[in-house]
Amino acid sequence: MKIAIVSTEEKVGNRFIEELGIVSGSAAQIFHGDVAHDVLGPILPDQPIPACDMIAVILRHVDFLTLQAIEAQVNQADSQLLCAVVLFRDAGVEDFKMSCLSCTQKLWVRDQDVGKRGRCPKCKKAFTLPIQRDHLLSQLTLNPGYSLAELSAGNVKENVDAILRILRGEDEFDHSAFNPKGSTMLVELPDDE
Ligand SMILES: [Zn+2]
Repeated sequence: MKIAIVSTEEKVGNRFIEELGIVSGSAAQIFHGDVAHDVLGPILPDQPIPACDMIAVILRHVDFLTLQAIEAQVNQADSQLLCAVVLFRDAGVEDFKMSCLSCTQKLWVRDQDVGKRGRCPKCKKAFTLPIQRDHLLSQLTLNPGYSLAELSAGNVKENVDAILRILRGEDEFDHSAFNPKGSTMLVELPDDE
């Protein structure tokens, strides 16, 4: 099968492909058991998605412009394609960028601060800092639908297995566990305020 690796950041896309065990100069293929899959990309936002069987969107950040670019690109592709979104970080990285929901100012959020009340330094609006994956799921809408995985660099075999499992739909993310409309996140007050 042909897998298109889509990323808004060339560096992140290349890093992920490298993590799949593909080195420059070799055929862009990954093997799962005896089955070879062709890997295309990274496909950047200004490039159309080539003919493929699966799309893997590789994201490091979940800011407004990143998610908007991915929606614009992926939603032009065949909605029957299998699609996986991978939140991908280098090992040991414990922060991410998101956008203020009021003014779209890009903000750094540390994982250790998730669940605390934070304030946008630009518009001064306070909000509860979300978990990166929850924020992604509440903000990103893709026509093919998607499964979500969080992977760190450093374990090639594990990453290959994980990406193929979710791409094949064998490892579906449980969307029923996430209900953004029912969430009380934004009105919750912390104990220490
Ligand atoms: Zn703001």
